[in-house]
Amino acid sequence: MKYLNSYKNFENMESDSMRREECDRCKQPPINNTTTLSKFNKQVICMPCKEKEQKHPKYRTACDAEEEAIRNGDFNYPGRFHRIGLPEGL
Ligand SMILES: [Zn+2]
Repeated sequence: MKYLNSYKNFENMESDSMRREECDRCKQPPINNTTTLSKFNKQVICMPCKEKEQKHPKYRTACDAEEEAIRNGDFNYPGRFHRIGLPEGL
């Protein structure tokens, strides 16, 4: 359960830095000011972009990579695709 608790703190810590006038990815103002962190890189994205991510074939890979990084104590993991760029289709 230690892992779950630390993950929760991580999300709270991030919430302040997640306010955006526009989505980092599509540059549209987020609907209801709702944004979330991309699983693919460090972008803060709107919900339509998130839905697009979740449907992407590489989404599972990106989630697994992030979960493994967090398990290893890397709370600043930038995302599986941070360095190599977003996969095609995003
Ligand atoms: Zn967007």
